[in-house]
Amino acid sequence: MKIAILPGDGIGPEIISQAVKVLNFFGLGESLSYSSIGGAGYDEFKDPLPEATLKLAQESDAILLGAVGGWKYDELPREMRPERGLLRIRQALNLFANLRPALMFPELVDASSLKPEIVSGLDIMIIRELTGDIYFGEPRGISKNEKGELEGLNTMRYSESEIRRISHIAFKTASKRSKKLCSVDKANVLESTELWRKVISEIASEYPDVELSHMYVDNAAMQLVSEPKQFDVIVTGNIFGDILSDEASMLTGSIGMLPSASLDQNNKGMYEPSHGSAPDIAGKDIANPLATILSLSMMFKYTFNDNHKSEKIENAVRNVLKKRFRTKDIFSENKILVGCEEMGNKIIEELENA
Ligand code: NAD
Repeated sequence: MKIAILPGDGIGPEIISQAVKVLNFFGLGESLSYSSIGGAGYDEFKDPLPEATLKLAQESDAILLGAVGGWKYDELPREMRPERGLLRIRQALNLFANLRPALMFPELVDASSLKPEIVSGLDIMIIRELTGDIYFGEPRGISKNEKGELEGLNTMRYSESEIRRISHIAFKTASKRSKKLCSVDKANVLESTELWRKVISEIASEYPDVELSHMYVDNAAMQLVSEPKQFDVIVTGNIFGDILSDEASMLTGSIGMLPSASLDQNNKGMYEPSHGSAPDIAGKDIANPLATILSLSMMFKYTFNDNHKSEKIENAVRNVLKKRFRTKDIFSENKILVGCEEMGNKIIEELENA
């Protein structure tokens, strides 16, 4: 077992330190190798995805990433920006399937901006295609058109094989859950998603136990805030998934609670919290490390097929919340405020006592 640890920028190093305590608890200290990415990669090697980092990631079975980005990099050319490192590593490792659970912990129902009856018991899995669509489609760029006016261009495209492989992941995931899969597209106006709907509908016959439905993205955005519990597994393309998964994450209260997995064809994965580098709170020991710790739970489940460790981590998080410990982002009346480091220690105490 070889695990690459890429702390990144902002709160990245703080939250990763807490997750590493968990890996050490399971006796995996020897399996870990560190490298820099994002702004940290640029500072060290003038590259947001240094060659040594990519090599380490390619040789590892799984990657744990903190977050990338920071104000001081905002003026750099696009290719040198921290976020570019992230897009490049996803593409280089062919991490095409992004799994983002939006799970409501009962103890945090009052942290949501929606009414408790709408979000309590919420458990959605959003599967977002991660290496295609308008984010990667060519041609792209900004150039002068025939009238001599500047014009921005991006290309939304999906090949049949790209749709097929993400559809299989979605059906398999749905068949292990409540067997309901909703595919989100804009097939009424966009040809690339018309093809998406056609291909996924054909694949449905291979999974007769899963009920497939379709929804236009504008309606899905509405339904997610009006009646989110109608969904179990949602599958969609890169740009729609980007937006819908952030929307779904906020249903659960704090982005500091939400893990994610990005997988290749063989379930090798990069695991990271759904949030960014939070430069506004970096270095203050107030960041919530639970999304990163829950990302480890996904790593054990999806890459290492170790449900036992995966559940142990999730239970530790549940118990810490039951005991009323909260970081600032999820704090409310009558709870016990803890910092990032202390939250990590509370998780270890739970693991030791389990
Ligand atoms: P962000 O997710 O970093 O922060 C949004 C808000 O949520 C901030 O108020 C922040 O303090 C809070 N927050 C985020 N994570 C938290 C945590 N664990 N605990 C407590 N509070 C938390 O988004 P942003 O401010 O839009 O972006 C900041 C930087 O992160 C930018 O440079 C952006 O490009 C980058 N970014 C990186 C990733 C990634 O690494 N995967 C994802 C999104 C944004």
